[in-house]
Amino acid sequence: MNIIYSDLHLAHQPNYEIYDGRRSAYPEVAARVDSIITELRRLGIGRITKPTHFPLRHIYAVHQKQYVDFLRQCSKNLANNEELYPSYFISDTYAPLTPGTFKASLTAVDCALSGAQKILSGQPIVYSLCRPPGHHAAHHTMGGYCYFNNAAIAAEFLANHGSVAILDIDFHHGNGTQAAFYNRRDVLYLSIHADPAQRYPYSSGFSDECGSGPGEGFNFNYPLDLATTNSQYLAVLDSCLSEIKKFNPDFLVVSAGFDTFIHDPIGGFALTQDVYREIGARIGSLKLPTLIIQEGGYNVEYLGKLIGNFLSGFKLNQGSF
Ligand SMILES: [Zn+2]
Repeated sequence: MNIIYSDLHLAHQPNYEIYDGRRSAYPEVAARVDSIITELRRLGIGRITKPTHFPLRHIYAVHQKQYVDFLRQCSKNLANNEELYPSYFISDTYAPLTPGTFKASLTAVDCALSGAQKILSGQPIVYSLCRPPGHHAAHHTMGGYCYFNNAAIAAEFLANHGSVAILDIDFHHGNGTQAAFYNRRDVLYLSIHADPAQRYPYSSGFSDECGSGPGEGFNFNYPLDLATTNSQYLAVLDSCLSEIKKFNPDFLVVSAGFDTFIHDPIGGFALTQDVYREIGARIGSLKLPTLIIQEGGYNVEYLGKLIGNFLSGFKLNQGSF
């Protein structure tokens, strides 16, 4: 297994989000990545390499150029420790700009694209440790701790070489990713997440959103109750996996969020530590060339363990094919 990681994410260190009208501590912290990389090194389950740099045209395939320019210019103009919530190009109050935001976001995209490149060169499984996460970033909006949609950019890159299924297992619906491919039939999007009637992003992720135009029937949402248990979750995952089998893609992209964990401070179904090994094993049993993109997960103490379990289960079951 290849693991793509860069410490350039450290450039992005927001201090606060605006939640319910008040400033509160920013949960998407750099320590999340320390928790992950420390555990993956301890487990020794993959070779850790740095990303290579890719041209901006791959980002323009998903995001509006004016939005990308805005992010670059705004980051550049901010003073040290300054934090800005702009009044446009943003969909909520959970994605502040800091001086290092553009650099870190660009590096996260490079991690995703470097992973996709390795998949194209024949690697069966790559884990891209992206930070900031990406699945809430849309065509011209940042939001939900996301700036560039790492998974969508990588999927678009892979779609030039074959069909792609994106399986999003973050606690929150990947509204940005869904929107990017909503009218496409060459990229299947499936998401298992908290019922948007109860949790962010509130406005999308309902089960009747099935795609439009040529993409009708190629978008699947599985909104779940907050009390969902391990066995209930695995049953829904199995439904997802059978849709992926029917679609029979050339590549699989997993938007891997771990805020489904019972003790996650901002998400949390009733899922326990060990189920992540089984989730990984079941996805791995598809035996597809798979790019795993890091999304959310905010329990810093447990995050590394959850991902270690997930990747161990995945690797064990996927084997070589
Ligand atoms: Zn999330």
